[in-house]
Amino acid sequence: MEIIKTIAALQNRLQNQPETIGLVPTMGALHNGHLSLIKTALAQTGLVVCSIFVNPTQFTDASDLEKYPRPVEADIEKLAQAGCAVLFMPDVPEIYPQKEHWHLDIGEIEHRLEGKFRPGHYQGVMQVVYKLFMAVKPDFAYFGQKDFQQVKVIEQMVKLKNLPVKTVMCPIVRDADGLAMSSRNVHLSPEERKHALILSWALHQLKKSYVKEASEELRKEAIELINAEPNVQLEYLEIVNAADLDTDISNPQIGIIALVAAKVGQTRLIDNVILA
Ligand code: AMP
Repeated sequence: MEIIKTIAALQNRLQNQPETIGLVPTMGALHNGHLSLIKTALAQTGLVVCSIFVNPTQFTDASDLEKYPRPVEADIEKLAQAGCAVLFMPDVPEIYPQKEHWHLDIGEIEHRLEGKFRPGHYQGVMQVVYKLFMAVKPDFAYFGQKDFQQVKVIEQMVKLKNLPVKTVMCPIVRDADGLAMSSRNVHLSPEERKHALILSWALHQLKKSYVKEASEELRKEAIELINAEPNVQLEYLEIVNAADLDTDISNPQIGIIALVAAKVGQTRLIDNVILA
């Protein structure tokens, strides 16, 4: 695997190469969720580029950025073993050589759910993903359903900017006990990890008994389950239209999804399940 740190060297490596390029953007601290994206990219494209960049502009909490795990050597090993051809690992000045003001109006979807609790987060996400798309010029880009709203935000950016890339959403990879894999799970104490299971459990129960007519009732039951769990502070649990994440589900064009965010101790976790 080639490890490349500058945009110029990356473009030099990728220019005139005949195969389709698949990009998997990550912030590192790789787990099987990330590796499932790599695997899908390998199956669908000729050359897989993974990026590892802990993007400061998408963090809304300075201590979250500071303590974000960065096990670089282990990440390199995992990617090499997975069959990734190119790892793009820029430093912050390479991506942001000067102060810049980025803003792209994608409408209400930016401000719902995560956007409410992490204002500005998706502007930072779009900013870095746009730069990665420009640097790599991928044919396909792979994102996890784990960050469902992020997928929708990026789809919206691609549409508005007419970017020549196809986005692919890959399913959530979970630990055997149901916890959605996340780089932040390493911050959970063994005790907190047990409490965190309530999130996937509540979503699982919700999906099992889901009927659209009883949405609000089932949502309340799931919220009660989570609120009864010690050490877990719920931020939101919403059942929304999967197309635009609006709580109006009367006309769900592509489906209905339940999304949850909560703090377990000091660690903020998100999860979701497609209901219909
Ligand atoms: P991150 O490094 O957290 O920014 O994640 C990089 C990519 O991996 C994003 O597209 C995430 O949605 C995806 N991802 C993270 N966790 C999982 C998971 N448990 N299953 C599937 N994809 C995931």
